[in-house]
Amino acid sequence: MYLQRRYLLSFESRKLPHIFTDVLVIGSGAAGLRAAIEAAQYGQVIVTAKTSPEESNTAYAQGGLAAVLDPKDSFDKHIADTIATGCGLGDEAVIRLVVHRAPVMIEQLRQWGMHFDMKGSRLSLGREGGHSANRIVHSCGDATGKALAEALLRKARQTQNIKTFDNCFVIDLLTDPPTGGAGAACVGALTFHPRYGLQVIRSRQTILAAGAAGSLWRETTNPTVATADAMAMAFRAGVTIADAEMMQFHPTTLYVAGATRSLISEAVRGEGALLLDRTGKRFMLEYDKMGELAPRDIVSRAIHEQMAKTNSTHVFLDVRHMGAQAFSKRFPQIDAKCRSFGLDPSKDLIPVHPAAHYMIGGAKTDIAGRTLLDNLYACGEAACTGLHGANRLASNSLTEALVFGEITGREAGQRLAEVNDKFAAKQIDWSNPVSLRTELDLTDIRNSLRSLMWRNVGIIRNGQRLTETLDIISFWQQYVLDKEFMDPAGWEVQNMLTAAHIIVESALRRTETRGVHYREDFNSSDSVWQRHQFVRRSEHQLIVE
Ligand SMILES: Cc1cc2nc3c(=O)[nH]c(=O)nc-3n(C[C@H](O)[C@H](O)[C@H](O)COP(=O)(O)OP(=O)(O)OC[C@H]3O[C@@H](n4cnc5c(N)ncnc54)[C@H](O)[C@@H]3O)c2cc1C
Repeated sequence: MYLQRRYLLSFESRKLPHIFTDVLVIGSGAAGLRAAIEAAQYGQVIVTAKTSPEESNTAYAQGGLAAVLDPKDSFDKHIADTIATGCGLGDEAVIRLVVHRAPVMIEQLRQWGMHFDMKGSRLSLGREGGHSANRIVHSCGDATGKALAEALLRKARQTQNIKTFDNCFVIDLLTDPPTGGAGAACVGALTFHPRYGLQVIRSRQTILAAGAAGSLWRETTNPTVATADAMAMAFRAGVTIADAEMMQFHPTTLYVAGATRSLISEAVRGEGALLLDRTGKRFMLEYDKMGELAPRDIVSRAIHEQMAKTNSTHVFLDVRHMGAQAFSKRFPQIDAKCRSFGLDPSKDLIPVHPAAHYMIGGAKTDIAGRTLLDNLYACGEAACTGLHGANRLASNSLTEALVFGEITGREAGQRLAEVNDKFAAKQIDWSNPVSLRTELDLTDIRNSLRSLMWRNVGIIRNGQRLTETLDIISFWQQYVLDKEFMDPAGWEVQNMLTAAHIIVESALRRTETRGVHYREDFNSSDSVWQRHQFVRRSEHQLIVE
């Protein structure tokens, strides 16, 4: 029944305040801000942030950005590493595009005043799992995301055509016709601001850059804003969602009771940190010859298995070889976080375990960032461009967010002239049936859903558990997606239930193991499945292709 609900709310657009802009960018992370800076060369741009513009996955990134900058490295090597990590699903044209554009993006950021760590007169280049060369640029050690977000926000604020709307929650994409789907055009968004209430932002072009879905899992590195709003609103509008089963789990987050799951960057293993189990044994070489620097899916599963074998809730990272000064200089944020829990990385082992980290799937785009809807682009973690295939190479995502931010901003800007202003005048009315069914406690549902996703749709999956998960989600949906809420907490749970449905359905159908998707009941890759999986809403049904 919920699939009939094209919009979360009933509304009559003519009764709501309107704001008009040339380009609406939904999201103020790396992708959204880079897109806005580009689009502003062609017209007026509004960028929305769900809370503050500083709060995004971007701001938490630690490791850095991947780019070929060392004369000993080559584009071909970076391309080959990305293809190999993607386990047969990476799109080579997209990979070539991103890899070749990456050094230009870094140079541009330097011109915009972003600080990168240096080694003498050259950029300091780190190494992360799956990379065959040193090619990760970073800032203030492990504060790359913060420095990047600050640099892009500063540049956006200096750009005359850009306005940022804080605390502006985008509820749904508006389409003409209102039902959305193939052939429909995006004409803006229905939004909510705590002070101004519901508003319509009408745009000639829209760029969806609303980020990730990590908060769907109980254990996650993502901040709480990452509630899969982008995936859910795109799905309701009829956009095709690709590879939703592909959630990458990060092997090492700090495991201290009562603490949020702070990431311990892969770059720490790049600096020679070892993984030890509770008995003090180094175990990674038993799972992969690359040891601690094997791709993330392999390290996450190895830790999962080793925890089961040793009956423990975590393993340990050993960085004691680095010494106190070197560690705190290279990883000041991680060092401070450990010390805030009484751990001295130069003397103590750091307890870690895996957590949901990066959503590879998302709104399907072509190589120009276009989605199935006219005048709607997607970039960053909200999009699935095909760069990562079935597994993401470390530090390729910020690079992708910048490259596709630039591309979508330019494409949207250049196409402004083609869009007839008639869209702006059209009224949109939508009415959902009233439901008198029992109200469930939203906080309970949110927490239970996150636990369920962690237990049954985590690092190791199987058909029976996935089927049960679908049943449970479907039950909750009947009592949550039949209602209309008037605040972000309600819309977020509705989006989380919608995205969970898409993710679990995709995970159940992919009856093989590939990249980050591991099925213990189909534990090898199957050539029949060397293809993407697509989910869309059509005629009130969820279609998987
Ligand atoms: C802890 C951590 C460490 C990481 N380290 C690295 C790294 O070292 N290198 C790397 O390449 N990648 C890293 N990643 C991944 C990378 O940070 C993200 O993939 C990238 O930042 C995504 O950028 P984005 O612009 O697409 O989304 P985000 O940066 O998440 O921005 C999303 C934006 O959308 C807004 N938004 C969301 N929903 C709505 C809504 N309903 N209405 C209005 N606005 C909305 C949010 O407010 C936010 O502004 C890391 C991620 C995490 C969590």
